[in-house]
Amino acid sequence: MAGAALLARAIGLDPPVFLLFEPIVCAAAMLGGLGPGLLATALGLSGAGVIAGWEGSSPFVFAAVGLAASFGGDWLLRKRRDGDRAAEALAEREAHLRTIYDTAPDALIVIDAAGIIQSYSAAAERMFGWSPSETLGRNVAMLMPQQDRAHHDGYVSRYIETGERRIIGIGRIVVGERKDGTTFPLELAVGEVRSDRGRVFTGFLRDLTEHQATEMRLQELQTELTHMSRLTAMGEMASALAHEINQPLSAITNYLAGARRLMERADGGDPRAADALEKAAAQALRAGEIIRRIRDFLSRSEEQRRVESLPRLVQEACALAMVGARESGVRVRYAFAPDVNDVVVDRIQIQQVVINLVRNALDAMAHQPNREIDVSTCAEGDALARISVADTGPGVAKEAAARLFQPFVTTKPDGMGVGLSISRSIIEAHGGRIWMEPNPRGGAIFHFTVRRAPPSSSEQRDG
Ligand code: ADP
Repeated sequence: MAGAALLARAIGLDPPVFLLFEPIVCAAAMLGGLGPGLLATALGLSGAGVIAGWEGSSPFVFAAVGLAASFGGDWLLRKRRDGDRAAEALAEREAHLRTIYDTAPDALIVIDAAGIIQSYSAAAERMFGWSPSETLGRNVAMLMPQQDRAHHDGYVSRYIETGERRIIGIGRIVVGERKDGTTFPLELAVGEVRSDRGRVFTGFLRDLTEHQATEMRLQELQTELTHMSRLTAMGEMASALAHEINQPLSAITNYLAGARRLMERADGGDPRAADALEKAAAQALRAGEIIRRIRDFLSRSEEQRRVESLPRLVQEACALAMVGARESGVRVRYAFAPDVNDVVVDRIQIQQVVINLVRNALDAMAHQPNREIDVSTCAEGDALARISVADTGPGVAKEAAARLFQPFVTTKPDGMGVGLSISRSIIEAHGGRIWMEPNPRGGAIFHFTVRRAPPSSSEQRDG
């Protein structure tokens, strides 16, 4: 201030006037930019003129200082605004990152080179049960089972010393330990960030519990299905055999009875021969009885009809049928009618039908360039739900089309030809119908129907 007063006096300005008006000019320019600065200079010029009366070069000096102060203030204002904008952008980016960080399903944990937790996301909190205040500043080993804790610091320091990557950038499946002491499998991907403040490691963690449970569920289902399909295939074969063999057996019985009558009508013959014929007839009857019993036994396999969610059942079965097929470029699309959900079925049996149809579709498309399967559901009146599996294969061969749902009809070198006949038995036993129609886009569409659950029964649903 004193310096400014001296300067004003040296150039012949009245210090109080200078000291009163020029800071106003500066303040106006710094707060409002060039316009308000120039306005304040003009007002100052006339105000100072009135108060002090201008002499010699004073108004020019005042105006020049005012102009310089206006431009300087304006420049400062712009800088400040740029700074504010940069800070705002930074804050926005940070908020954006924080949202991602907090909502990402994968947990994110940042540790420093000593293994100390620097950052711990909301998903990590959900995954491990520890809160950020309990973990920040502590060694990450606390999130591992006891037996792994001692080794972790060693892993980090070995990497820092040797640069040898065993997990960084590679990822691996490890075991985590929750606050309650339970352990769970997780997939860990580690990245490294180097900065002036040292290096930090970022770990992305994905809980695999559900993934493993799903895989186990699929495996269980596959076992159940394999067992069921063997039983059903045997039942189906026994029926077909019984049907085929029963006719010759009853013919044998009839011929034997005829032979006995002929012998009796002649001279009575050797009674031992008549006895042998009678025993042979009894054995033929017994053979028929055995076949009937096997068929009854196999067809009496426990049926468990319950209210099931149709989309879930179908999707699960397709997932099983598609094992290994996705890699060969087959696309599956689902279109589930939203109003068709609960059906009353034996889940395993209906899944077996879906698997048969999807596998047949895959077989049919093996040599097609375009391989697509459309699985859809829709209502068939009030009582039934229709499930359709459409493929883009060559369609059903003429020789198979006429007897498609009969046993032992196959065009495949290693086919048994029982899949569709088993499917028909299952669907008919469920009160439904199965049929095929050519796909207008090329290929075949197999449809089948099952009974829908009445609306009130949905609470009985299993799981
Ligand atoms: P398998 O698959 O053992 O031959 P199936 O009873 O399941 O027994 O099928 C019988 C026959 O029906 C097959 O061999 C095939 O010729 C024909 N078929 C079934 N599904 C399809 C389909 N999606 N496209 C073309 N042909 C099919």
